Amino acid sequence: MHNIELMALGISVSSEDSINYHDDGFVDSIVNHSYKLNKNYGCKFIDIYKKYVHDLFSSGIGRYYCINKNGISNFHIFYLERKQVVNLLVRGHEETHFLSHFEGLNFLEEKILNELEIKINFSEIDNEEVKAFIGGIYSVISGGMTIEMLDRVYNHRFLDEAKNYLRGLRKK
Ligand SMILES: [Zn+2]
Repeated sequence: MHNIELMALGISVSSEDSINYHDDGFVDSIVNHSYKLNKNYGCKFIDIYKKYVHDLFSSGIGRYYCINKNGISNFHIFYLERKQVVNLLVRGHEETHFLSHFEGLNFLEEKILNELEIKINFSEIDNEEVKAFIGGIYSVISGGMTIEMLDRVYNHRFLDEAKNYLRGLRKK
C-alpha cells in the first residue's frame, strides 16, 4: 500500500500497489504529452478506460490519462499553464476524475460538507465531466479564489452544469 496525494483537492488516499498515480504538472502540449506517455508505455494505441478519458486528439487544457501495463494501472494528470484560478480549476478537475475512478468521491463529499456546508451526492450525477468540475470549483474556493474570478476568464458548458447543481443544493 502507498499514499496518493491529490494536492488541489487536499485529499490523501491509501492505494494498492497496483495503482500508480503521477501529477506531471504543466506541459507544453496536451496532445504531445499524451503521445510521449503512449511511447513510454510502449503503446501504439491508447488502452484506457474510455469512459473517463477525454479524446486523445482533442485539445483541452488538462487531461486525465490512464493506461494499464503488466497489471499496473498508471494514472497521469497534466495541464497547460493558465491564470492561477484556471490552474486550480483544471488541476482539481483532473484530480476528481482520478478520485472518481478510484471510487473515492466520498472523501470529496466529506470535505465539501465540512468546509463549504454543501451536501453533495455524486452518485446522483451521471456526467463525469460535471463531477470533475465540482471538484474543480472546490479547488478554486479552497485555494482562496472565487467563482466570479473564474467566470471572467473561463467558461465551459459542463462547468455551468456543475455550478447549477451546486446552486440547486444551496436553495434546499
Ligand atoms: Zn474532464
